[in-house]
Amino acid sequence: MEQFYGKSASNGIAIGRILVYAKDEQQVKRTRIEDVSGEITRYQLAKDCAIEQLKELYEVACKEVGEVNAGIFEVHQMMLEDEDYTDSVLNIIETQKLNAEYAVAKTGDTLSETFAAMDDDYFRARAIDVKDISERVINCLSGKKDTDIEGDEPVIIVANDLAPSETVQMNKDKLKGFVTELGSANSHTAILARTMNIPALIHVKMDASWNGKLSIIDGDKGVLILDPTDEVRKEYEAKYVAQKEKEELLKELKGKENKTQSGREIKLYANIGSVEDLGSVLQNDAGGIGLFRSEFLYLEKDTYPTEEEQFAAYKQALLSMAGKKVIIRTLDIGADKMASYFELEHEENPAMGYRAIRICLERVDVFKTQLRALYRASAYGNLSIMYPMIISVEEVRKIKAIVEEVKRELEEEGVTYGEVEQGIMIETPAAAMISDLLAKEVDFFSIGTNDLTQYTLAIDRQNSNLDAFYNPHHEAVLRMIQMVINNGHKEGIWVGICGELGADVSLTSRFIEMGIDELSVSPTSVLSVRKAIRETK
Ligand code: PEP
Ligand code: MG
Repeated sequence: MEQFYGKSASNGIAIGRILVYAKDEQQVKRTRIEDVSGEITRYQLAKDCAIEQLKELYEVACKEVGEVNAGIFEVHQMMLEDEDYTDSVLNIIETQKLNAEYAVAKTGDTLSETFAAMDDDYFRARAIDVKDISERVINCLSGKKDTDIEGDEPVIIVANDLAPSETVQMNKDKLKGFVTELGSANSHTAILARTMNIPALIHVKMDASWNGKLSIIDGDKGVLILDPTDEVRKEYEAKYVAQKEKEELLKELKGKENKTQSGREIKLYANIGSVEDLGSVLQNDAGGIGLFRSEFLYLEKDTYPTEEEQFAAYKQALLSMAGKKVIIRTLDIGADKMASYFELEHEENPAMGYRAIRICLERVDVFKTQLRALYRASAYGNLSIMYPMIISVEEVRKIKAIVEEVKRELEEEGVTYGEVEQGIMIETPAAAMISDLLAKEVDFFSIGTNDLTQYTLAIDRQNSNLDAFYNPHHEAVLRMIQMVINNGHKEGIWVGICGELGADVSLTSRFIEMGIDELSVSPTSVLSVRKAIRETK
């Protein structure tokens, strides 16, 4: 038995034989041609054939993974119709008098290298898309058919890399999981895997000799187990059965309302740390995103993420959620979430230190960059913004003044933006105690029970020695939640919970009794909370 660690692109367990997927490497020959117009016609016909295939793929993908995720095949069509792409191909055929296959391959390589060299993760991930469309056109030129998994046995695909079109074309009934050496968790292939609920790993150094071997993907731990011992295989078979039983039970709740038996509807959203989690949000049928912890965009970088990088991530979240509410929390850096380039001083008591909104209100340039990216992205969906670690009305007023400044600047630049709800996190006892005053200033409250518990009980949430004392069910915490809900409702604003306590199904009916309007939980908890809501009288 051997184990290979990689990065999880989609959770879950898969057990099966490996099929090493070797792409038909296009051995494209470079041939001189005489009949330039004949070659251009060949290219046009192949391009039409590729577009036709992409339209069909879009239809298949819409059924499999929904319209938003299928959108990649529309993007591929657009890329093929792009003037720069076409001009480059025609230019090689006309001026160099070379065959269409070569012209397409060369164009694909050049553009792919350009994308790969870009700073922005989103555009870098498009490098494989442009190669994918070129291979499709070359296949059409040579009359080759698309990918198919041979044999009847479902398999675990191991590949150097997989393009989105390859992933979606693979017959889902024959695909147990996939493992690739390249790829990013941000790529559409990874998004498709998560949306299709197929366990997947990336960054695993593959070996063609694995073909046919029995293996296990543990997508939760990010490991591929090759030739498992009988004992390990049995252990994973039991885990797999338990996972399926749980999923089956909960799946029945997809598409159902979050309504109590007496007819009260609760908004049930999901918490995410990055756009990589969007597939899971859709897969688990969350009604929106109740907390996007934007600081992870900052934590995964060596320097401040640019406005463009942030804009691309927020826009992707808004587009994927297709009009459903997306609440993005502004930078909550500090305490346990440190990025060295912020050059924050060492503190004795970081949880009570220089963090979150305190930093943003002092480093206004950093804050404004994020707000600009957020407002620009707001044109693409239903965005709300919320601010962390609030302790006073003054802070909220300062934030609102900065937001107005950003909006004014964007207007002067002619940039359009949407209607954006403004909310705050209630995660300090101070905010809970003055929630009557704060409610007059904002559109909603989202209670951060993780920090509210820590600060109310004076228990450092990072200190595992104190786990036994960290009790979010403490009456003090529950009373504060009640107080915040009452004060919010008096001013006519909605109140939700986005801390981990929101997913505690032993409290769901109590929260509903208290009057909670929204619960935002990790994507994989959505269906179990829905169950608890529906069981509430
Ligand atoms: C909270 O404090 O409850 C919360 C949701 O924020 P975080 O866990 O990111 O501090
Ligand atoms: Mg918090």
